[in-house]
Amino acid sequence: MNTTDCLFCRIVAGEIPATVVRETRTTLAFRDIGPKAPVHVLVIPKEHYADVATLAEGDPGLAGEVLATAAAVAEEEGLLGDGFRLLFNTGAYGGQEVFHVHAHLLGGAPLGPMLAGNLS
Ligand code: AMP
Ligand code: ZN
Repeated sequence: MNTTDCLFCRIVAGEIPATVVRETRTTLAFRDIGPKAPVHVLVIPKEHYADVATLAEGDPGLAGEVLATAAAVAEEEGLLGDGFRLLFNTGAYGGQEVFHVHAHLLGGAPLGPMLAGNLS
């Protein structure tokens, strides 16, 4: 993909505004525009990877840096005591809408069941 066509690459480039809560050399964390919980932060690698499988395959160290940034934001947002959820929607069944890998960090209230229903 041409990264100028990617929403999150454009946020990394500063072309689209975002409320950034943490930045490292390789990662960026910013608030989700449509929060689903009191704390809803997206954590991305600055480099473009389409999804978590591609990232883990292509650069497992960078995948670890995304997790480390998510954990640091969880700590900063005061989520470590009561807990939080970290998830990667992936592909069509996963409901992924933006194809630049991002972890959703959710917390600040009880988050309910992992899925809306039992699909088994
Ligand atoms: P997903 O369905 O996992 O691909 O999630 C994409 C997420 O990106 C959704 O939760 C959106 O609310 C969020 N989102 C879309 N555009 C923006 C934006 N410009 N800034 C912050 N979050 C966004
Ligand atoms: Zn991108």
